[in-house]
Amino acid sequence: MSAPAGTTPPGPVLGVVGGGQLGRMLALAAHPLGVRCVVVEPSPSPPAAAAAEVLAAPYGDAAALAELGRRAAAVTVELEEVDTDALAAMEQSTGVPVRPSVASIRTCQDRLLEKELARSLGLATAPFRDVTSRDDLAALGFPAVLKLRRGGFDGRGQVVLHGADDVEAAWAWAAARPALVEGWVPFRREVSVLVARSATGEVRSWSPVENVHVDGQLAESRAPADVPGAEELGRRLVEGLDHVGVLAVELFDTAEGLVVNELAPRVHNSGHWTIEGAQTSQFEQHVRAVLGWPLGSTAPTGHSAMVNLLGTVPPVEAVLAVPGAHLHLYGKAERPGRKLGHVTLVAPTPAELEARRASLAEALRRAG
Ligand code: AMP
Repeated sequence: MSAPAGTTPPGPVLGVVGGGQLGRMLALAAHPLGVRCVVVEPSPSPPAAAAAEVLAAPYGDAAALAELGRRAAAVTVELEEVDTDALAAMEQSTGVPVRPSVASIRTCQDRLLEKELARSLGLATAPFRDVTSRDDLAALGFPAVLKLRRGGFDGRGQVVLHGADDVEAAWAWAAARPALVEGWVPFRREVSVLVARSATGEVRSWSPVENVHVDGQLAESRAPADVPGAEELGRRLVEGLDHVGVLAVELFDTAEGLVVNELAPRVHNSGHWTIEGAQTSQFEQHVRAVLGWPLGSTAPTGHSAMVNLLGTVPPVEAVLAVPGAHLHLYGKAERPGRKLGHVTLVAPTPAELEARRASLAEALRRAG
């Protein structure tokens, strides 16, 4: 049935599992396309509530997921720690597609499966080994990194082993939980590449990004970064996974080439710069991809730097006084280390970007 003349017919509903800042920015990007987001999130007033309807329930709640299935054209995720069995059951009973697929999410939930996939596609990873005994912890030499297979993020859920003396404590930490050990990667820099693949099979990637982590947590991203081979690597992964939506690939850039560190089956913090720094943002592209719509241009609009606001929110006026600063606040309460927002600077030249970055650093320093 067509809408009466002069009115806009209601567009599709996109179901989203998770209602944090990624869900909020996804819903904000969906809005102009006529897409309404409904999110499942345990907290009744999460960041996404500003732009989406919230079904306040645990992520794996069968009744809430069934409601998404009844109302949505597709269901997607804004975090990887979701109950994939519950999602698969919803998909089967309602016929509404989960995009990315449950199989893709399952692979990206598990660092061991991610690395096995990368290797199967001929891509380099750190040396790795599933940890089933104390001996596994020393098998790759030192230093090494012990990581939980699931659930760790922002540097949490991992321990560096500097030598044999660290094995006992690390084993006590890991014994009860599935974990893997990785060889140390002497990287020159950390980079990422974001790729989108539509339900129709169309693939587009953005320029690679250089990332600076502080205490294992992303502090700043810069794009475009010159990382030969990164976009092709991203394409192989997104196609190897048969992934639909945005896939983020975190990489170590080493003297021997690119090493795959971690995958995220969703929009990602290192892609926030695309909101102002690219023709199509990762959020809009994800909406397009999971609804089977044509993808947009990923061309950069300039040179971008994205700075995370961690722990405290500076005065809005201080940030807005910086030329070219785009402020994004997530509506979250202050807590040490918590991602509360970000600022993106876009400039026509690298030199101008440096000048704006210095102004922002000064503004944040004075505010802090
Ligand atoms: P991850 O949670 O895997 O992203 O790791 C958090 C941070 O720890 C990374 O951003 C790196 O700075 C560091 N890291 C992780 N794995 C390794 C490794 N195998 N070798 C060297 N540094 C690592």
